[in-house]
Amino acid sequence: MTLGTGARARFDAIRDILSRTPRKFDPPRDENGKRLKISEFFGMNTFTMAQMKERLPKDTFQKFHTTVEQGGKLEKDVANTVADAIKDWALSRGVTHFTHWFQPQTGSTAEKHDAFFSFDDNGEAIEKFSGSQLIQSEPDASSFPSGGMRTTFEARGYTAWDPSSPVFIMESASSKTLCIPSVFISYHGDALDEKTSLLRSMEVLSEKASEMLQLLGVNNVERVIPTLGIEQEYFLIDRAFYSLRPDLVMTGRTLAGGQPPKGQQLEDHYFGSIPSRVQAVMSEVEYELYKLGIPVKTRHNEVAPSQFETAPIFEEANLATDHNQLTMEILRKVSLRHNFSVLLHEKPFAGVNGSGKHNNWSLSIVSSSPELNGANLLEPGKTPHQNLRFLTVLAAVLKGVHKHAGLLRAGIASSGNDHRLGANEAPPAIISVFMGDMLSRILNSIEKDVGSDQNVEAAVLKLGVSKLPEVARDNTDRNRTSPFAFTGNKFEFRAVGSSASTAFPITLLNAAVADGFAELTGHLKEKLKGNKKVDVAILEVIRDAVKETHAIRFEGNNYSEEWVAEAERRGLHNLRKTPEALAQLVDPKSKAMLTGLGIFSEAELTSRFHVRVERYVKNLMIEVETLRSMIDTVVLPCSYAYQGALATTVVSAKAAGVPAPQSETLAKLTTTIASLQAKRAELEKAFHKAESLSSEEDKAKAFSRDVSTLMAEVRTHCDELEAMVADDYWPLPKYREMLFLS
Ligand code: ADP
Ligand code: MG
Repeated sequence: MTLGTGARARFDAIRDILSRTPRKFDPPRDENGKRLKISEFFGMNTFTMAQMKERLPKDTFQKFHTTVEQGGKLEKDVANTVADAIKDWALSRGVTHFTHWFQPQTGSTAEKHDAFFSFDDNGEAIEKFSGSQLIQSEPDASSFPSGGMRTTFEARGYTAWDPSSPVFIMESASSKTLCIPSVFISYHGDALDEKTSLLRSMEVLSEKASEMLQLLGVNNVERVIPTLGIEQEYFLIDRAFYSLRPDLVMTGRTLAGGQPPKGQQLEDHYFGSIPSRVQAVMSEVEYELYKLGIPVKTRHNEVAPSQFETAPIFEEANLATDHNQLTMEILRKVSLRHNFSVLLHEKPFAGVNGSGKHNNWSLSIVSSSPELNGANLLEPGKTPHQNLRFLTVLAAVLKGVHKHAGLLRAGIASSGNDHRLGANEAPPAIISVFMGDMLSRILNSIEKDVGSDQNVEAAVLKLGVSKLPEVARDNTDRNRTSPFAFTGNKFEFRAVGSSASTAFPITLLNAAVADGFAELTGHLKEKLKGNKKVDVAILEVIRDAVKETHAIRFEGNNYSEEWVAEAERRGLHNLRKTPEALAQLVDPKSKAMLTGLGIFSEAELTSRFHVRVERYVKNLMIEVETLRSMIDTVVLPCSYAYQGALATTVVSAKAAGVPAPQSETLAKLTTTIASLQAKRAELEKAFHKAESLSSEEDKAKAFSRDVSTLMAEVRTHCDELEAMVADDYWPLPKYREMLFLS
């Protein structure tokens, strides 16, 4: 009998992996060779406001600072002076190129490098960087997804510096590039990217929240900013295994793969000791992030084997969004140096947990008054008044999430997240809000009755609102199953997928809450017309809002079947798959709110819908084509080879006059091969049918129903074969290897 050789590459990979050692990197040191503290090199690759102040003439800095704070256009000579300072700094650091760094609607970032190098009027080689190069650039917009806006408007677009996010130096093995965080807009001012609308949503939210605060007698509020702390989950898989899996390389997830006897059921990975090669990746990633001024704080093992998490200290939402994009990029780059591939997909492996990106979100006050500045609006206060403010903000969030739950679901919709949401490990596709025990009790009693003619302070005390500070401590009973949970002084939007840009979901969340504030403000103004005292009126407004949004609050187990039924009774959306979720983007209610607040124009919104539907269809097409080629060129050939070998031994046994018990295995194997072929043919048919539909929306629906179902069925047969075919015939790295060997 000829031994199978199909598994040679896989065995070689295992041998290579077993001989790997953790890669060391050189931590930054001072002249005496002493290791620097993080605080001594944090942000060394960014050009911050503080450095601007140091390097710019005083009046230029003042003008620049005012423009950043208040928005508006930079004067030409200010821009030139700033550009000069940035150029000097960058050249002193060995930078040769610059690029506008922006976030097109691909979910990742884009850059086109330009050298500082140029010729002066005398033909002498020089380094040049002008104010206009700093402020604006014109990449060829036509190759980025615009969701039809290209036909409505025109292909040309330009990037414009967003000075609220500092410029930074991106280092690679052989060069350094100055990156200028930018927005990407068409010549008519339409947002072609993810950042523009995020910035708009922040502005609108600030305006609506400030208006409410002013009515409540909170003066001196300059701005209200959403703060964001993003927990990033990921898998690290050895690169040798990764390279042997066409599905991981092409789609970021395994399209087949049998379950190992041990998955995560022993719960021995979560918070366990970090494997040393992984620890080396983490340390180097953190080092790179610190240099970029990204305040990473925590690292640990996650629930699934080979799954990990990192989280920074929270920042202003737009900065946090940029920093999360950089974090994903640095994770990709650094893990390769260590012979790992990072998997940011929401569900790389069936049967173990997928990965999320928990978005911790709150609102913070910017004020000239020191007591107010930095105050967290979701932090329960010490006085009844502060608690009224807290309850008002809470009511605005409840309003927003209740009214726009469908939209929030749309914001997190992707082919990857479809595999994670509701997979009994991640929040379900039903959006609800978790409040915690104490706060629920308070809200429930507010809902029941507030004697409106009573002295407000007494009413607030009677409700136990004076106990609110304890809420912060009452978050030990964290409900991990909730998609949107209050966690003491912030909300945690857990349903966001691990590979997603947070820009879009957070834009929609900001918008929804801004709308919540606007509604409450409207109600409050109505009530104040009747000469009511503000405190009395606001309590009534809060009560109405809490009543009205009752259905969105859920404290129980979000994974349970009962919740699905209960949510349906409550009339909540259960948008299981991306196509139905995305439809919410162009729902009249969403459109009215988003265009009304000026966060998206109708054309921009429609374009986002189209871009996302198209991306969904493309992702599924790539998955089907990858699965098909894996079956045809890997799974079936190795199964045939093993089938042939078995058949030969059956013939030999019979010729030798001995029994051939392996003929049973042969028969079973043959049946399974036939089943796989039959299912593969069905998949092919469904695929062609879906592909041939004329509208992208119909395609998306067909892929999410028939094609997805058949892919899962095909997979079952592949996995049966994996369990049957002799190990040395099987070329694809197995789950037990990818997840447990490093
Ligand atoms: P967990 O137990 O979920 O890991 P942590 O307390 O570690 O919770 O916080 C998770 C994230 O929440 C961190 O990134 C943290 O900086 C962030 N966070 C804390 N406070 C706020 C806030 N006020 N606004 C936004 N994010 C916050
Ligand atoms: Mg968390």
